Amino acid sequence: MDLLWEMFQHGKISKASSTADKASIEVGKAQTRTYSLEAKLDHLGLINRAMWSLLKERTELTEKDLIDRVAELDMVDGKKDNKIHDIRECYGCGKGIGPKEENCIYCGLSNPITSAFNKL
Ligand SMILES: [Zn+2]
Repeated sequence: MDLLWEMFQHGKISKASSTADKASIEVGKAQTRTYSLEAKLDHLGLINRAMWSLLKERTELTEKDLIDRVAELDMVDGKKDNKIHDIRECYGCGKGIGPKEENCIYCGLSNPITSAFNKL
């Protein structure tokens, strides 16, 4: 009876160890993806700063203009949350569709993407 119990316990321990190994691999993959996204975000921030510095140098735009426009775009969806939510209206049924959706999820009509930012 003890032998059966030990075999049963050994099987459970082995299965738990395998599950932990798989979880550890998944954590490693998630960390790699996170580092990659952080690097891309840093690069996009750098590009944005470069674009803004060029605009300031070559136009009459000011920091206040930028801050006001950010606040204005933030409030497009009615919520001040430092996020932009580009909900478009379907040409066919008028219901809201996501910025990346080419076909309406309600009526199926094709709604061509007309802004480069909708692909983000
Ligand atoms: Zn529709």
